[in-house]
Amino acid sequence: MSVEKISHIGIAVESIEKWLSYYKDVLGLEYTGSEEVAEQKVRVAFLKIGESQIELLEPTSDDSPIAKFLEKRGGGIHHIAIKVDDINTALTRHHEAGAQLIDNEPRIGAHNMRIAFIHPKTSGGVLMELCEEPP
Ligand code: ZN
Repeated sequence: MSVEKISHIGIAVESIEKWLSYYKDVLGLEYTGSEEVAEQKVRVAFLKIGESQIELLEPTSDDSPIAKFLEKRGGGIHHIAIKVDDINTALTRHHEAGAQLIDNEPRIGAHNMRIAFIHPKTSGGVLMELCEEPP
């Protein structure tokens, strides 16, 4: 199993429409599209930054995990996503280490990636997302 790069950094915002122009027009990143991830009750927008991306996350309902995050902490960095080539092995390694996981099994996230979230208690306070690209 190898860890390849930072796939993306997830930033929670109350409105993508409100913040997208900063990232696109002022910072100058290339906007690569938006999609809704119904299961997580979020809408996401991706902006390319070198080999990685910035993912803006906006809640689509009041009980979205992003709505709760915004309520508790305001906008800001929500998670860091690490791209691995074998998410099953990465999760097994976490299980063996006694890590606290939010997802015991991979599920499907944005871009059809197989993803799993690791609890911040395991990683020093940052929500981590493991992700593996679809074949
Ligand atoms: Zn993410």
